[in-house]
Order: sequence, then C-alpha cells, then structure tokens
Amino acid sequence: MRTNRGAEKQQAEVVVVGTGPGGATSAHILAEHGREVLLLEEGPDLPLESCPPFSVEEMVQKYRAGGLNPALGNAKLTFVEARTVGGGSEINSGLYHRTPAEILERWRDDFKVRESLESDLLPHFEYCEQALGVGTYPGLPPLASRKLEEGAKALGWRACEVPRWFKYDRAPGPDGCADGTRQSMTKTFLPRALQAGARLLPETYAQRLVRSTNGWKISAIRKGKLIEIRARTVFICGGALQTPLLLRRSGITKNVGNSLAMHPTAKVVARFNDQVNHEALGVAVHQVKEFSPRISFGCSVSSRPHLALALSDYPELGRKIGEQWRHMAVYYAMITGPHTGTIRPVFGLRDPLIRYSLSALDLQDLSTALRRLARLLLAAGATTVYPAMPDSRPITAEDELSAIPSELPASRSNLMTIHLFSSCPMGEDAARCATNSMGRVHGTNGLIVNDASLIPTAPGVNPQGTVMALARRNTLHFLGKL
Ligand SMILES: Cc1cc2nc3c(=O)[nH]c(=O)nc-3n(C[C@H](O)[C@H](O)[C@H](O)COP(=O)(O)OP(=O)(O)OC[C@H]3O[C@@H](n4cnc5c(N)ncnc54)[C@H](O)[C@@H]3O)c2cc1C
Repeated sequence: MRTNRGAEKQQAEVVVVGTGPGGATSAHILAEHGREVLLLEEGPDLPLESCPPFSVEEMVQKYRAGGLNPALGNAKLTFVEARTVGGGSEINSGLYHRTPAEILERWRDDFKVRESLESDLLPHFEYCEQALGVGTYPGLPPLASRKLEEGAKALGWRACEVPRWFKYDRAPGPDGCADGTRQSMTKTFLPRALQAGARLLPETYAQRLVRSTNGWKISAIRKGKLIEIRARTVFICGGALQTPLLLRRSGITKNVGNSLAMHPTAKVVARFNDQVNHEALGVAVHQVKEFSPRISFGCSVSSRPHLALALSDYPELGRKIGEQWRHMAVYYAMITGPHTGTIRPVFGLRDPLIRYSLSALDLQDLSTALRRLARLLLAAGATTVYPAMPDSRPITAEDELSAIPSELPASRSNLMTIHLFSSCPMGEDAARCATNSMGRVHGTNGLIVNDASLIPTAPGVNPQGTVMALARRNTLHFLGKL
C-alpha cells in the first residue's frame, strides 16, 4: 500500500465497506450489539426523496455510470448497479422473495454450504420482513400487473403476487395505483445503525486492503484525498462486482471474481386496447412462476422514458409514445444464467472489466421464454407484442410467435440485468468457494464478505431477501450469537 504521511487517519473496531442491503444489515446488527462501526460508501448520502422514483434524475444521482454498464461476451448485455448510500435498495422495486428451498438444498449439495436450509434462514427472513414491513398490495393491483395474472390463468400457468418492502400511504385509486414509500436501507437499517453509534463516511471509496498487526489497513479516497483506516475486522459489502474488485486489487484472488452469475433478461412491449399505464403506475407486483426457477416473467417499470428505451428498435412507434403510452407496458422474461462470468481490475481504471457469455442452451431458453411471454400477453388481450430486439417484427397472433428465432441470436440480443451475484461464492468446499459458509474469506482472519457476492448460483428470484437473510445470519455468527 502507498503510504502517505499527510493522509487523514481513522480507525474503528469494524469497518463495513458499502451500505447496500448487505452492508446496512451487517452494520445495524454490529452497532446494536455494541461494536464500534465505521461505514464507508463510495456514493453520495442522498435522501430517498432526492428524486422521483424510476426517473432519469434517479439514474443520474444514484446509478453507477448512469445505469449503462456493458459486459463483454458473446451477447449484447448491459447491467445496472447503484452507487449511493443504501445501495441497490434506493433504486430497486422492492419485490421480495425468500430463497426457494430447492435452491438452498442445491447450495448445500454443490458448494457444501452449512446452516443455510430453509429452517436455518427462517428467523432471518422473518426478522427482515418485519423490519422492512414486507407486505402485499393494499387493494386491486394495477391492470398492467394483472394482465400477467389474466394471461397465466388463460393458459393454466402459475402466477403470484409478490410482496414488497413498501409502506403504502393510501389504498389504490380507480387506476389501481397506490402511493407510498420504498422501505430502502436509508429508511430502515441505516438510521438504526447510526442511532446505535455507527459512523458513516459517504463519498469514500475503499481502494485496497492490507493485513496489519492487529487486523487490516484500508486505503480509501474521500473527496479526492487519501485516507488510511485501521480496523480489526472488515466486512466487505460492495456488491457482486465491486467486492471481488476490491479483494483482487488487494491480492486476494482465490475463487474471487471467477464465477459471476446473473439473471439475463429480455424485454417486450405489449400494447392493449385497455388503458394499462398511468403516470403513477409504479411497480407491478405479479410474476409468472410456471417455469421457475429457470424462467420467470414480470412487468418492468413502464414510465415513458423506459418505454422509449424498450422501443428503440421500433423508431416509428417510438415517436408515437406520447399518444399511445397509456395502452402500453414493458414486460420481461428472465432466466437463471450460468455462473462463469469474470471480474478483473484494469490498471488505471476505477471500474473492472466484466466478461460474461451465454451458452447455446441459455440462448435457446431465452427464446423459449420470450415466445412464452408473448403468448401469455396475447392471451391477456394484447393486440401487439414488440420484442425489444434489433430486426424483430411486431407479433399480433400466436401463429407469428415463430418470428422469434428458436435460439436468440447472440449478436442481435439486447439483454440486460439488474440481478448480479456469485462472484465470491460461500461454502466449505475451499476448492471452489471464496469464503466459508458464514462469509469469512478462506485463509484470512477478520475479513468477511457479506453481500450478493456470496450467493453461490442464480437463485431465480429477486435476490435482496436472500442478501439480507444471509447478512444477518453471518453477522450474528460473527458476534457469537448463533
Ligand atoms: C434497478 C434495480 C432493481 C432491482 N429490483 C429488485 C427487487 O425488486 N427485488 C430484489 O430483491 N432485488 C432487486 N434488485 C437487486 C438488489 O437491489 C440487489 O440484489 C442488492 O441491492 C444487492 O445488495 P448488496 O449489498 O450486495 O450490494 P449493493 O446494493 O450493490 O450495495 C453496494 C454498495 O457498496 C458501495 N461500494 C461498492 N464498492 C465500494 C468501495 N470500494 N468503497 C466504498 N463503497 C463501495 C456501492 O456504491 C453500493 O452503494 C434490483 C437492482 C436494481 C439495480
């Protein structure tokens, strides 16, 4: 590590790097158990209300690189990460799932993960659900959401309403839209951590860690100036891309950043005769789980900028969004992708190089997923479905579904993901895992990963519930309370 005599010096018993769901869950439990905690966060300290949800301002203020980060590989794929106090919880949809039991069993069998079955995680799920007020919609959900349920019912497929961490202020109006407040980390665990004495340094980027006599020395940049921070224990919670980047930059590379997984997602826009979209539409709460965990369908944010983006392959229609947007919504088909992506530091650059490729089977499954989604939307009464892919044709009837090729052409794919994990998998199998089952980095003392990086494979459901439950379990284990 570079030493700098003029550098500001700080110290704490425990440093938590990153304030997203992993970091905030860890920090409030540590602080409430009397530990001296210092939180470092690269992004700014902004209130949830600093911008309207899902707006362009939100992307500018709270997304890393404005939300457009490419992964290199055989398919065109972009990913989204937050960079703000509270991490992804400040920008996400708040859709909550517990980890499916079959996925937890797979982690036990394939990665030798201990104490992670449904019964082990139940108290942690329940704690987080209560703390964040996870609950169902306070009335009839918006029509764009119910279209998924209607289409699934017509085809005999399984659909469900997904609960959210959201405090509803009022019952929905006639349009099915209800106001309220996302129960993000800045509304829940972070104030609790600060109340219990934790300190927060926003706009502070941890660059590198070095072992020291009694723990770790962290070199960080705060508003352009170097800071050196000493800590007995470091919890690394920078998210699935930044955590392995920090570890690799610090020379800790075994099974780190070699197994990134995600949920690659393809989108369509559906047009209905009914009015399905509204200024206050917000988040749709239905998902179709007939083919899960491999394939899931849902409704994305469908505000005018999001519609315009999804229709970028249909410029004629894109120009008419002003007249037609009330009859349109964006839907997605997502698959559980492979865990073979890599994350590598690039000399002189702050952001890492991400490589991620899909197999022929993944591309076939994405095509199957898109065809099934289009079929479901037609069954729900869509007059036209527009796959968000270059050179594709609008679909108006079932016999046109074959216009979607049976294997999504990688070069023409237009995929994105908001779910990233598995870059530092946990488990007792030291040959393939970066940490033990409780997040401690194999071969180190006082270094704990506690975020989405730990999740061994794509869970097939929205991941924040899993991130928080694992983070609570690991933190209580660290404190000797389990
Ligand atoms: C648009 C969007 C919608 C989503 N919707 C849902 C949903 O509805 N339900 C769901 O379950 N999940 C959803 N997710 C995923 C969910 O938000 C993530 O799984 C979750 O936030 C991961 O938590 P984390 O703590 O691992 O990392 P993050 O939330 O990514 O937090 C990491 C934090 O660490 C900071 N950081 C990184 N590196 C450093 C460093 N070196 N120094 C200092 N700070 C650093 C980052 O700035 C960031 O704030 C969504 C994600 C996105 C982007």
